[in-house]
Amino acid sequence: MAKRDYYEVLGVDKKASADDIKRAYRRLAIKYHPDKNPGDKEAEAKFKECAEAYEVLSDADKRKRYDQFGHEGLRGAGVHDYAHMNVNDIGDIFGDMFGDIFGDIFGGRRSSRSARGGGRGAARGYDLETAVELTLEDVAKGADKTIEFTRQDTCQDCSGSGVAKGKSPVRCNTCGGSGQVQRAGLGGFFQMVSTCPQCQGAGQIITDPCRKCRGKGSVPKKRTLTVKIPAGVHEGQGVRVSGEGEPGRHGGPRGDLYCYVRIKAHPFLMRDGANLVVTVPLSFTQLALGATIDVPTLDGTRQLRIPQGTQHGSVLRIRGQGLPDLRSGHKGDLLVQVAVEIPKRLSSQQQNLLQEYAKTEELEVGSESKSFFERIKQHFGNSK
Ligand SMILES: [Zn+2]
Ligand SMILES: [Zn+2]
Repeated sequence: MAKRDYYEVLGVDKKASADDIKRAYRRLAIKYHPDKNPGDKEAEAKFKECAEAYEVLSDADKRKRYDQFGHEGLRGAGVHDYAHMNVNDIGDIFGDMFGDIFGDIFGGRRSSRSARGGGRGAARGYDLETAVELTLEDVAKGADKTIEFTRQDTCQDCSGSGVAKGKSPVRCNTCGGSGQVQRAGLGGFFQMVSTCPQCQGAGQIITDPCRKCRGKGSVPKKRTLTVKIPAGVHEGQGVRVSGEGEPGRHGGPRGDLYCYVRIKAHPFLMRDGANLVVTVPLSFTQLALGATIDVPTLDGTRQLRIPQGTQHGSVLRIRGQGLPDLRSGHKGDLLVQVAVEIPKRLSSQQQNLLQEYAKTEELEVGSESKSFFERIKQHFGNSK
């Protein structure tokens, strides 16, 4: 699940201004909005991808981290987990973030949420995503990993109300407190009800916002957490930690945290499903005469007998030295791939010995290479 470049997702230049980015996102959000593409999973995925790209590129800090370090740089930066989010929630995030700019994209949904409980209904908090980096040793045994991430937490100064101490919000004049406004649609033939652009459906306006959270009711806060990662997990898989996302609104439960697994490269071993693969360079003599060699495994080295006459590219198997399967726990194997290494420099003694050896080879060329060279001779002989 490699993530696409955020600039590419929004179709903007790396030097794009905040306005360019906003415009690009707005255009794509309208294009891919699920209301316009009912039942179209691909459009929904694109819609979510655009939302994530916009969240990052519209935030100066996140954009800087992304420009410097790519997707890696956003680990723990508190980027929302759009892939697991339903579309209504995305509407809520961007409604909250950008006020009425997105009102016409998300307005219908926002007002329907307000209608449920006049804006006071309990709503679950947003899910967050972060990444956790594992070694292959972690994958083999499972691991408790400590992660640090930033999430929104209820502002202590105002207990989440967003209102400065000793002050209270005032009723919204535009909608008279209902959170909804009526306007004439299509030449005045009928009335349309939409979310109040002034108060975004809350029915009241904060005139003296809390200084700490600037009226949002929540502030970003670092959190450190230990997450249990099961053995056999794969690159890109997510471990859900329930109730560790952002706080719910109006007493709703917290969202979840998804920890996506990244696996660090091992100096010797490569993963292939439940098997591990190692390439071992050996000399011609070791392969020709046979040898006992040390092979790296996840816990130290293991001896392996290379039989006489082993060919370059052969694969030998050490059973049970791979990784456990995530579900069954059944262990894979360590596959040892043999590579012949030709010496770049020879001592004069070695050179003499090899020349002696080569003389014996001329009398006794291996049948396979003999026919190969004969075929070459025939081919070029005939074409002359
Ligand atoms: Zn506050
Ligand atoms: Zn209002």
